[in-house]
Amino acid sequence: CEGEPGGGTGFLGRTLTRLLKSRGHDVTVVSRQPGEEQITWGNLEANGLPPCDAVVNLAGENILNPLRRWNEDFKNEVVSSRLKTTKILARAISEMDTPPRVWVLVTGVGYYPPSQTAEYTEDSPGGDSDFLSCLARDWEAIARLPANLKCPTRQVVVRSGVILGKDGGAISQMIWPFRFGLGGPIGSGCQYFPWIHVADMAGVITYAMETEAVHGVLNGVAPSTVTNAEFAQSFALVLRRPAFIPLPEFAVNAVFGRERGVILLEGQKVIPKRTLATGYKFSFPDLSSALKDIVS
Ligand code: NDP
Repeated sequence: CEGEPGGGTGFLGRTLTRLLKSRGHDVTVVSRQPGEEQITWGNLEANGLPPCDAVVNLAGENILNPLRRWNEDFKNEVVSSRLKTTKILARAISEMDTPPRVWVLVTGVGYYPPSQTAEYTEDSPGGDSDFLSCLARDWEAIARLPANLKCPTRQVVVRSGVILGKDGGAISQMIWPFRFGLGGPIGSGCQYFPWIHVADMAGVITYAMETEAVHGVLNGVAPSTVTNAEFAQSFALVLRRPAFIPLPEFAVNAVFGRERGVILLEGQKVIPKRTLATGYKFSFPDLSSALKDIVS
């Protein structure tokens, strides 16, 4: 079985590639750079996709890069790196004589409006509240394949929470302040913090690829929900450090800008209702076991 992850060189892509290979699949990564077992986006646009059974898109400029100012240029990069790559893959799939059996797109739980009271499942409405939610809506829309394909391709969208793992993502940005005892809740700390262990995120994608009955939207979040303050407490506890020093809202807005600061200062209580109903078994359903695995 062959698969093609766009963005396969990134934090999630590396874990997914390892998991797919360990299960006997061949993997070709689509990247901006040429390389071994890689094709470039330009190559793909010119020659189409090689024969494959599954396509996954994980490509996208890192929204929370603290070194990039939140201005129109950066916002355009954040949007176009997701929409353009998704459009290229969707078009390539729809032009194949024998298209892949499954097409998986990873977006974000930012699709749902931030709230401290609402509870969201895959059936909840969203996609119209702020920058991130409109981005997720447009991203998912551009991925949709025409209905009249010769061999229909199963379509899956995984709306991911904050992905936690050893070698990238949010943990790599937070671990040093927490190790020095300088960690704490962000803003009020009351906002929900939808999270998933990177092994489970790769697991959900792989399960969706391999299970014919899975289609449509899945929430890529762990079943146990926590607030940001509870996350900070648990992270500090596994590191055996205090978590007293809050990161105030004004500091977050100063570094990230108000529109982007929403990602850290607000959150959603997201339930993986359909993901659990598919039969997927989480390896790390609770935060404490996930964090112990990550810092071990
Ligand atoms: P990374 O930032 O680690 O990697 C994404 C990959 O995207 C990179 O390896 C890079 O591949 C490619 N990329 C980066 N910038 C651009 C660009 N301007 N144009 C085209 N390609 C680009 O992301 P993650 O692995 O953390 O996340 C994967 C996906 O999941 C992303 O779409 C992200 O939005 C989404 N997601 C991630 C979450 C998280 O907590 N990490 C939470 C929710 C959603 P290359 O250099 O090879 O071209």
